[in-house]
Amino acid sequence: MPQLAYNVSEIDFESPGKRHYQVAFHQDGTWGYSLVPLTVVVGRRGLNQNGVVCFGGTHGNEYEGQIAVKRLCADLDPEAMTGRVILIPQLSESACVANSRVSPLDGVNMNRAFPGNPRGTISYRIADFVKRHIFPRGRIVVDLHSGGKEGLFPICTSFHPIADPRQRAEMAVAARLFDPPFCLIYASTMASGLLTDEAEAEGKITIGGEFGAGESANRQGVKHAYEGVVNLLRHYGLLEGAVQRIRAEDAPEPVLIRADRLEHYKPCPRDGVWEPAVAPGERVSAGDVVGWLHDFADHSTPPLEIRASRSGTIAMLHLSARPVKGQTLYVVADEVSWEELLSEPENKG
Ligand SMILES: [Zn+2]
Repeated sequence: MPQLAYNVSEIDFESPGKRHYQVAFHQDGTWGYSLVPLTVVVGRRGLNQNGVVCFGGTHGNEYEGQIAVKRLCADLDPEAMTGRVILIPQLSESACVANSRVSPLDGVNMNRAFPGNPRGTISYRIADFVKRHIFPRGRIVVDLHSGGKEGLFPICTSFHPIADPRQRAEMAVAARLFDPPFCLIYASTMASGLLTDEAEAEGKITIGGEFGAGESANRQGVKHAYEGVVNLLRHYGLLEGAVQRIRAEDAPEPVLIRADRLEHYKPCPRDGVWEPAVAPGERVSAGDVVGWLHDFADHSTPPLEIRASRSGTIAMLHLSARPVKGQTLYVVADEVSWEELLSEPENKG
């Protein structure tokens, strides 16, 4: 069994070896805890300044990251490793147990709770623990997501627009180590309080990603999540060996797509039954039909055609057939070259 830790001082982050913990965060309204799993692996081959921190289950109903990080807890061997990895497979443990995006204990979305609050409800206190005790122990931060019940994405790694050119360049390299078909630059203006927001703002090499959807465990998504982290450890010298392709040897380089402005995110114009006409990752031209909204109040009426407002690559489609007016129905991203990303001036972030 993992060792119970009531306090951060009971977690050994320093000694060589591997240790499994359950970190106890007291509940707000009853005598009980959320027991957050945490594994520390410190290599016996010496120090490495590139500490890696890896999260799954920031949203409870997204499973590829939970599985990949749990498998890393089992597989990483301190005898074969240099430096330190901290693994948290179910950050919002209560949400994971409940198969829910938000924690049932306080109704809070862990990925909107950063930087946290030591006096806040349980999700804010867990975020505060991450901010104060985990982030300082890693230079590279990985947060593995999927579309949950909300969105259908092509398998992708992701990051926000980054102002600092050096941080941006290093993140572009790190995002490609997961060998996904797409790397997505997403809008900082769409939401705030994300785990990745906080890590990026601290200057960390921060990688997010979408590895599946629909409260399932996408086989390919788990593979990219797991092997992507292993590649990251190889790249930064924590594990020996060369970075390896995860897709077929002859698969194309990851395509960089950018949806960094709110105009990329199209709201559903009315309630209806959503029938997509395209697939995630597909290229569309402005005016192409991306789907239909059916109204069954009168089944003799034609569906409302939803047409792409711009040309680009479908970065996200509403997953459920029952979107509500105002929810994001689809995202068309711009394809940009990696060179273009790296040559942007500092003020572009
Ligand atoms: Zn998520």
